[in-house]
Amino acid sequence: MKEPYHHTGRASNKLNSYLDCPKNGLLKDFLLHYDIELDNIKDWTHKNKFKRIGIEVPLLMQNFVFDLALFLKNQLQIEVIVSGEPCFGACDIKHTGLLASGAEGIIHFGNLEIPNLDYMRLNILFIPLLVKVDISEVLLQAKQRLLNDNIKTIGLVSSIQYVHNISKSKKFFSNNNIQAFAGKGNSRIKSQGQVLGCNVSSAISIKDTVQCFVFLENGNFHAKPVCLATKKDVYCFDPFNLQEKKLDYLELIEKEKEKETNKLKILSKGRRAGVILSDKIGQNRKQAAEQVINILRNNNISSLLINANYLHESIFRSIDVDYYVSTACPRLALDESTIGGKQIINIEEVRSYFHKKNNKIIIDCFDQIN
Ligand code: SF4
Repeated sequence: MKEPYHHTGRASNKLNSYLDCPKNGLLKDFLLHYDIELDNIKDWTHKNKFKRIGIEVPLLMQNFVFDLALFLKNQLQIEVIVSGEPCFGACDIKHTGLLASGAEGIIHFGNLEIPNLDYMRLNILFIPLLVKVDISEVLLQAKQRLLNDNIKTIGLVSSIQYVHNISKSKKFFSNNNIQAFAGKGNSRIKSQGQVLGCNVSSAISIKDTVQCFVFLENGNFHAKPVCLATKKDVYCFDPFNLQEKKLDYLELIEKEKEKETNKLKILSKGRRAGVILSDKIGQNRKQAAEQVINILRNNNISSLLINANYLHESIFRSIDVDYYVSTACPRLALDESTIGGKQIINIEEVRSYFHKKNNKIIIDCFDQIN
């Protein structure tokens, strides 16, 4: 079995092995491999005396969301409403629609809360969906590869689904002549060693202590920002299929060069910029957007603040600007590069280009969303 779940819908589309399973096997298999914390859910609904709850799930879980809703309805004996909007993370709670549909509380599957976010006293239960997988074999495999590559100190990093494996892994490596560390993230991070696609502060905090970073998962979405922000190689070992890969920092930066050239070109020629300001609960960077507008205007670039929740390609293709600056999810500028055929630049790149007069693009800091 491959990891079927990813919190970011765009990334999850690439992990479609789950779609090959027979439809009626999906929920059963999912419950076998992921902890949905049913007792916790029962306590929460009971304590709050809910009669109707809303659930929001990552895109790939939509394939069996009907079965999941029925399962919860039977177990809890209450009404369950499903959000039909794409949900990209704990930064993206679909409260407006769910509350308007009569939900008294919301279960968000697939993430822990982002601690520094103001969830406006919404009654949300975060179920991170911890993976139930035995990591003994993959630990032996990782040890062998790391020792072969002469690695003696590692930083352990993890997406939320695997974060419970960190302490066991740390002990294992330390007993096997590899010193292992797990860093503490900033106020946007809940657990030791945890990283988000937009925040690798736990890795940054120990980058000078370790030779490389290690994920005991496939690392499809999270390895890249760790590699770019720490300038260290990242090893990924997948406990489901024992596949391994190494993300080499120098190779990765080489691949990013073409994007860098395109961004520099548009920054030097473009006269009209749209500054995207998201209204998602954890992606709204109003202050940063206003700063960017000021920087652009001071450099004689006409700029316009554009509010959006979901970025519809056709709309963004039509708006008559030369390029976009995104203050929304930092992964847009990194992974998508363009929207509606127009280049997306991140905040740090704008600051770097116009303030410091660097003729080199810097990578987004993946830091805190204010
Ligand atoms: S802002 Fe961060 S948590 Fe939200 S979708 Fe982007 S990478 Fe994920």
